[in-house]
Amino acid sequence: MLKVSGMSVRYDSVIVALNGIDFEAAEGRVVALLGPNGAGKSTLLKAVAGMLPFEQGDISDGRVAFNGASLSGKPPAAITRSGIALVQDGRQCFRNLTVGENLRAASFRHPNGSSARLDLVLSYFPILEEFLDRQAGLLSGGQLQMLVIGMALMLQPRLLMLDEPSLGLSPVMVQSVFEIVERLHRDLGMTVIVAEQTVPRLMQIADDVYVLSRGRVALHAPPGDINEERLQRLYLS
Ligand code: ATP
Repeated sequence: MLKVSGMSVRYDSVIVALNGIDFEAAEGRVVALLGPNGAGKSTLLKAVAGMLPFEQGDISDGRVAFNGASLSGKPPAAITRSGIALVQDGRQCFRNLTVGENLRAASFRHPNGSSARLDLVLSYFPILEEFLDRQAGLLSGGQLQMLVIGMALMLQPRLLMLDEPSLGLSPVMVQSVFEIVERLHRDLGMTVIVAEQTVPRLMQIADDVYVLSRGRVALHAPPGDINEERLQRLYLS
């Protein structure tokens, strides 16, 4: 479904963030993208989403293809329309708007199907239904994470990419977020890429694992081949 080949990215023309990455997410799979701080996980997701020109990041080499069609050079809106949604770290939404307004704003590209889609999204996030009229800025970190994932789902993606969804959340909230990812994958057959530093719960739902280290793929393996000790060794290498 998604195929990234020979991807190299530099920031400000000098900082090498990715160095010849090959990466694939096959249809209907959950792919864990692991690596320590600065390994290049966010950069890879942003490169796929077409966001690097807005971050002073420059793809110096490499290709991205989605269902066989090249995404290279396409703007973020066109990539979103092709079925890819990225939930960046930082839980970006309109904090002064309500939960409902944020969800509806996210679906502006699909105005016709938006109310059916809203029902579907709320069925996955009952907490958002409860807080539809609450200002987003008043939500807890976990609730905000649910909101931004819900907003991405309003775009009706076939590939959902989540950048460090567990950051700063309590273990219970992390558990809830990954339960939802698992259900999206199971019920809707959605392909999901989750970037994290290390989350044991993610290992339980992942079909494939990539470990990045200093902008390169240090390991690509099934989750059963990876344990905490092996990860630590890769992170320190
Ligand atoms: P984290 O877990 O901290 O988010 P990451 O694996 O997602 O890390 P990236 O954020 O992709 O890693 O960073 C890869 C490299 O690129 C790092 O050296 C980082 O400092 C650098 N970098 C990232 N964004 C920028 C930017 N906007 N401008 C300059 N350098 C950047």
